[in-house]
Amino acid sequence: VVKSIIKSSHRLPPLPTIRDLIRLFKLRALKQFSQNFLMDQRLTTKIVKSAGRITDGLVLEVGPGPGSITRSILEQYPKHLVVVEKDRRFIPSLELLADATKDLVRMDIVRDDILLYQCEHAFPEHPKVEWEEDKRPNIHLIGNLPFAISTRLLINWLKDISLKRGAWTYGRSTMILTFQLEVAERIIAPISSDQRCRLSVMSQIWTKPLLKFTIPGGAFIPPPKVDVGVVTLIPLKTPLTTLPFDLVEKVLRYIFSMRQKYVRRGIANLYPPKVQEELTQLTFQMADVDPLYRSFQLSNEECLRLAESYKKIIDENSEYADYNYRAPKSERLEMM
Ligand code: SAM
Repeated sequence: VVKSIIKSSHRLPPLPTIRDLIRLFKLRALKQFSQNFLMDQRLTTKIVKSAGRITDGLVLEVGPGPGSITRSILEQYPKHLVVVEKDRRFIPSLELLADATKDLVRMDIVRDDILLYQCEHAFPEHPKVEWEEDKRPNIHLIGNLPFAISTRLLINWLKDISLKRGAWTYGRSTMILTFQLEVAERIIAPISSDQRCRLSVMSQIWTKPLLKFTIPGGAFIPPPKVDVGVVTLIPLKTPLTTLPFDLVEKVLRYIFSMRQKYVRRGIANLYPPKVQEELTQLTFQMADVDPLYRSFQLSNEECLRLAESYKKIIDENSEYADYNYRAPKSERLEMM
């Protein structure tokens, strides 16, 4: 009877507070998992609302911990919520939330490392929405990410976007993620800004990243030393390139390797010494980019033109494709 009343009024039953859950299950934040818990339900709801409308949608939450953001997600009644948590100590508190809401929301708890988890398995039943359509699939990836893995996870997911795989098998699924504020500022950094780096260009080639709001470190338990930025990343209908992800990442790594020097210096390291001068010059000529710029002065398009030139050059000179100026000297000798 209680269940049917709950369902008919379409209201979640009163859920235990996160403080209660932490006390009940004797949960303590562990440094090794970068655990900083958000207790303020207004903030967790604000994070979830940044995702837009998730009602009846599919949501993947990364690192739910004791479940504060999870609660706010459940309160929006998605059709299906999958939470992926590495630390087994949180499973009982998450089971309690899943059990309390099982008549209204399907919630699956996966104990796994998000860096290994195959996101396409989360929602196998979702119909595909074409990438070029204005409409996006009602799929959202939400997470107060552990700092220790946030950049790596974003890079992994950008690669998935570039290949339209994983959570992007279904179309332009959106991400709502937290980062150290400094990292969030790098992700959105425009040309010429102090924070401009490889992560800015990578993020902006495949998505439109927005810093929605910041959360002071003091709002977390235990408080991290830094503030936190909540960033949404919406995949672009037309990414700025169709070049392979790994090639773009490699060229950007070289471009941004020497921030205060001419960008020519970074690009030169892509080539072995005997052809370095000639091929570096050719790369800039073909790309129509000024070699005397510093990396942060390059637009996303200019970075991509350099990547395109590099690709053309190694397509014609495949012996240089694997050249690594940091490899031990013995390995480099053959190319010198
Ligand atoms: N969502 C909770 C909150 O906002 O209060 C906890 C956030 S805490 C910053 C990060 C969470 O991610 C922790 O619960 C931690 O155990 C989990 N975590 C850490 N590394 C992970 C990984 N590789 N895969 C999945 N979860 C991970």
